[in-house]
Amino acid sequence: MTEPTPAITTFRDFNIAEPLLTALDEIGYETPSPIQAQAIPPLLAGLDVLGHAPTGTGKTAAFALPLLSRLDMQDKNVQIMTLTPTRELAIQVAEAYQRYAKNIQGFHVLPIYGGQEYSGQIRQLKRGVQVVVGTPGRVMDHMRKGTLKLNGLRALVLDEADEMLRMGFIEE
Ligand code: AMP
Repeated sequence: MTEPTPAITTFRDFNIAEPLLTALDEIGYETPSPIQAQAIPPLLAGLDVLGHAPTGTGKTAAFALPLLSRLDMQDKNVQIMTLTPTRELAIQVAEAYQRYAKNIQGFHVLPIYGGQEYSGQIRQLKRGVQVVVGTPGRVMDHMRKGTLKLNGLRALVLDEADEMLRMGFIEE
């Protein structure tokens, strides 16, 4: 990955969509963390990124902000999917997407994981969500059933990819 641009000191230096910048002001983030300064520009440009940073350094916002910035609210398909190794992380990441997108009208994010009724997840998928955050097993179940269609997907995030590989999802 390239070094951060020294000129970037606030989120307004990026070409992030206005509703997201307003949310960041409200949440109180002032300065992008190093992983955010490095990952946001290439993700805004639609490039693939492999990010590596310790826990708690702002990785979630590093991918969520630029990807949310590129959402098309007229598009009814699932546009962003994030896979996480655990249901706890799926819930946490879905909450983060919701927090950053709180000023985007009509925004819906759905966490999907095992041990939860299919019916509620299917109902919400039918109603339409822009972002799905899920664990690999349950996501693949929905794909096989045809209840999760990914033909309109624009971005895929493998959060804690090393952990998912360790759990045995290499083939998938
Ligand atoms: P994460 O590494 O994504 O789990 O984020 C760790 C914590 O840092 C979370 O509580 C975030 O809300 C917070 N955070 C992320 N980015 C920033 C930032 N630029 N400024 C202040 N706090 C942040």
